[in-house]
Amino acid sequence: QAKTDGRNLVRVFEPWMEQAVARRIQLVSELRGALDGDQFELYYQPQVEGGRIVGSEALLRWHHPERGLVGPAEFIGIAESTDLILPIGAWVLRAACRQLARWAAVPHNARLAVAVNISIRQLMEDNFVRDTLAVIADTGADPRCLKLEITESMGIEGVEETIAKMEALRRHGIRFLLDDFGTGYSSLAYLKRLPLEQLKIDRSFVRDILVDPNDASIARSVVALAQALGLSIIAEGVETMAQRDKLLELGCHRFQGYLYGRPMPAEEFEDMVAAGVAR
Ligand code: C2E
Ligand code: MG
Ligand code: MG
Ligand code: MG
Repeated sequence: QAKTDGRNLVRVFEPWMEQAVARRIQLVSELRGALDGDQFELYYQPQVEGGRIVGSEALLRWHHPERGLVGPAEFIGIAESTDLILPIGAWVLRAACRQLARWAAVPHNARLAVAVNISIRQLMEDNFVRDTLAVIADTGADPRCLKLEITESMGIEGVEETIAKMEALRRHGIRFLLDDFGTGYSSLAYLKRLPLEQLKIDRSFVRDILVDPNDASIARSVVALAQALGLSIIAEGVETMAQRDKLLELGCHRFQGYLYGRPMPAEEFEDMVAAGVAR
């Protein structure tokens, strides 16, 4: 509402705001078109342990008709602030499960896990458990190969329901991990209660791990915390062998990052698995 203080009228909409609103509206309508027009694709980024690819993270890409390949940073936020994240998230889950089922038919790919990012908005849906199990059943994916990545920023409201849903899916073999760990606000009490299998050290701590002793200390503490809670650990954003070696020294043995490969189309990922990891 415009505020008048007697002297002048505050303009609520500056031209740049109007442009931002218009861009947003256009993006929302383009995202709807993307779902209908089959413009999404999942890329897969390798996860490596002991020189072997043990799985991947599925990362969403948008083949925009004019702008080319668009990354999730440019549209997931807006999708989350509208209901669009629900059909997009459902598409992602189905595409990843279809891929899992395809890989399961190829012996040397059969054990590869795929980690899928899910939004709190999806987890808050009443039908999330039912819908997820339906996708598993439809696609024939092995639920033991499916991991779901959630982030700490996921609201504390509805914790009981969230935990119940996670536990229900866990009983079917689906594993959960906490993404970008260390950047959110979750208390240790909350962490203790979530039925997690893995913590993922955020790449902001990996980036300067060799030069910033605080980052190294944080990484060391996250490893200790994971061990204490019986969770496995993975580091994201590993770009150099020196970072990898430092993480190994700190007790982290599983890595994801440009050192091993950028997110890539499924066929490229398959070729990489077949060729083996060089580093
Ligand atoms: P994230 O889940 O933390 O994914 C890791 C991001 O780090 C990816 O960015 C990946 O490309 C990037 N990355 C991986 N290794 C390196 C590295 O060595 N160095 C650097 N600098 N970056 C690296 P991307 O693909 O742009 O995704 C950004 C975020 O968008 C993801 O962060 C995730 O939060 C979200 N996102 C991606 N796909 C989905 C999806 O299907 N659903 C939902 N809800 N969110 C998604
Ligand atoms: Mg992730
Ligand atoms: Mg992450
Ligand atoms: Mg991250």
